[in-house]
This record gives sequence, C-alpha cells and structure tokens, in this order.
Amino acid sequence: MATEHGGAAACNVNVAVRARPLLDWEEQSRCVEVLCDGTAQVGRNPGDDKHLIASSCPRFVFDRGFGTESSQQELFEWVQPAIDGCFEGYNAAILAYGQTGSGKTYSMGTAAIGLVVPEEMGLVPRAFQHIAAGIQKRGDEAEFEMRASFVEVHDDNVNDLLADPGTSTDVIIREDARGEVILVGATEAEAKNCDDLLRLLERGTLSRTTAATRMNATSSRSHAVLTLVIEQRRRPGSASRQRGQPERVRAKLQLVDLAGSERNKRTGTTGKHFKESVNINQGLLALANCINVLSDESAQRVGMHVPYRDHKLTRLLRNSLGGNARTYMLACCSVSASNFQETLNTLRYAARARNIKNTPVVNRGDDDDQLAKMEREMATLKRELSEAAEDPSGLMAQIQSLRE
Ligand code: ADP
Ligand code: MG
Repeated sequence: MATEHGGAAACNVNVAVRARPLLDWEEQSRCVEVLCDGTAQVGRNPGDDKHLIASSCPRFVFDRGFGTESSQQELFEWVQPAIDGCFEGYNAAILAYGQTGSGKTYSMGTAAIGLVVPEEMGLVPRAFQHIAAGIQKRGDEAEFEMRASFVEVHDDNVNDLLADPGTSTDVIIREDARGEVILVGATEAEAKNCDDLLRLLERGTLSRTTAATRMNATSSRSHAVLTLVIEQRRRPGSASRQRGQPERVRAKLQLVDLAGSERNKRTGTTGKHFKESVNINQGLLALANCINVLSDESAQRVGMHVPYRDHKLTRLLRNSLGGNARTYMLACCSVSASNFQETLNTLRYAARARNIKNTPVVNRGDDDDQLAKMEREMATLKRELSEAAEDPSGLMAQIQSLRE
C-alpha cells in the first residue's frame, strides 16, 4: 500500500510467510497452516497432517503465503515488482528470516548454485537472470553498470566475502552525507552479465562456507548480505528521456540471508558456539528492537529514536528498514510440530515488520554529482581548518583578509 509521506510515496514492508515441507526424519504432525492469501495459523494439530489447525489457534495475516507445495518461481514472482523497480532507480531489499533449517537458504538460493535443478533455483539467481535479461532488453535505451559486494556479519565483525585470499577481510560500516550505508573495505566487483553475478555469488558463498567449516560451524551462524548496485545512463532521445525521466539513475538491491533465530536452550550450544549464538541473538534482538520502534505508529509520530546503531547488522540494514528501499521480508518456518514455538515466534516477529513504512525515492545521478561536490567541498574545508589549526597566525590573517 502506498501513501503520501513527506513528499515521497511511503510503502509498507511487504511480508510473506513460507512453510517448508516436512523432512522424512521430522515429527510428522504439523503446527502451521499457510494459505496463499497470506493467512497463517499456528497450533498443535492432533497428530496427522490431514488435520487442519483448530480455528481458535493464533492467526496471522501477511501479504502473501507460500505453502509447502509452493514453487521457487511463485516466490520469485512475489518479489519481481521490487526488482523491476531497480530499473526505475528504486532501491530494493529482500530478507529471509527464520530458525535454522526453515528454508532461508533454499528460498534465497544461495548455496551450491551449480548443483541445483532449474525449478529449484532460488530467488537470488532468478533475480540475477531477470536483471541481466532486463539490461539486454533495454540495450538500445540505456547503458548499464553493475557492481556487487558480498559481506557477512559474524561475531560482531563484518567480513568481506569477495576478498582475495590472503588480503584483509575487515569491513567498516559508514554512512554518507545522505545517510546511505557504505561498506568501507568491501570488494566491489564489476559484473557485466548474469554469469559474472552468479560467479560472484558462488565465490562469496564458498568463502562463507569455508570460513564456517574452519570454525566448525555451519554457514547459518552468520548473516549474509549481498548488495548489487545498478547504474543506468539513459541515451539521449530514448523513450524514458522523452517522458522526462532523469538521464542517470542508480539502484541498490540488498539480498539478505539472516542467521537462524533458534533459542540456545533448544540447541544446547555451549562454549564458543554459545557466545556465537548470543551474538546472533543480539543481532536479531537489535533487529527486533528496530522493527518494534519502526512498526509502532505512535513511536513514529513522536520521532522515537530507532536503535540502528546497537548492532552492525541493523546498521547494515538501516536503509532497508524504514528507509529508502522497497523491502520484502520472507518469514520461513518449518511445519513440523516439534518446531511449534520457533514457528510461532517467527510469525509474531514477521507480523510486526508489516507495519514498517519505507520511503523509496528514485536515486538520480545528478543528486550523486551534487553529493560528490559537497563531499569535495567538505574535504577542502576540513583540510584548510586542520592547516589553520597548525598555523593560528595564518588563520588570523585569513579572517582579517575576509573582514577587509
Ligand atoms: P536454513 O537456511 O533456514 O537453515 P535451508 O534452506 O538450508 O534452511 O533448508 C533446510 C532443508 O530443507 C534443506 O535440506 C532444504 O533443501 C530443505 N528445504 C527448505 N525449504 C524447502 C522447500 N520449500 N522445498 C523443499 N525443500 C526445502
Ligand atoms: Mg541457511
């Protein structure tokens, strides 16, 4: 739903729930029923999967529901409007949330891409194919440039997953003058087509898994964030220029596979893994705290502080939550009754995210030029000030000359 909000059209975070099918070894009774209209009902059913959940059980309503029979293509079609918006210059974000084993990586399609049959290919490779086809289709109209970075937040560090072997993987999060998040130290790899993008995805996924294996943990112990920047320069005389659209637009697509949201008590983690899972929970808790403030209309009305700075994960996702992006969140859950509590928690968390209002705007290239000019001016001023601080008499002379 779009509303007018401070001059730009505000839109809510679009939230869907997906239930993954029962695995052979799981308890075969179900705890959640998901309908494609977005209704999800959670309860303990009497014991076999033919029984529906009792109508008195907690019920949640989302923008879309993907049941156990849903296909990867249906899931992609849900996010497609956000991806198409990148060609207009709107930022987009897709986040997968849920306990470990709930289908986040399967849905995002960020593992072992080469081994997957085409129907099972997930959101990220489908998005890459769609973008590459969209660029080809617009070849006569515009020139494009794509750059991708791929990082993970692990133990309160941000690591560059595309770093060359033997080089530093440390990444620092900064914000530019517009408040847009930038990743200092993260490799920004150029991509010309879908194959380049898939190679980058594979490379990042591999280094995530390798690092995770070295630490004797699984890859779901970290939050993975892939960012694709698409820059477009429309040709003079192109249809969009004739319609008065800007010459240059830029869009950022953020694709996020969050770490599992399981409870320590349940997984029985100890020692280093316990600390690791405390940190995962801190990240997810910080995310929940931001979602709570952002989704509370009265808190928003009085301009309550959003604690983005509490964790690197929330600093990284700042623009996608309550900021300049069209954001889609997929709440993944297991239907098995043994995961009843986690499924209930996941849906509660996701239901709140639906109230978050974002304010996506077209990112125009001329705004970038203005910003670059401002940043250059600021750098010059800073340099002059620090030079003046070393030579106070020079500063006095300068002030004197300005007065005259
Ligand atoms: P997570 O990333 O949340 O830890 P995974 O995506 O690795 O979970 O999924 C756990 C297991 O369930 C994997 O074996 C995966 O192939 C399977 N799975 C998840 N979702 C689906 C689905 N929608 N259809 C079929 N299998 C699925
Ligand atoms: Mg995973």
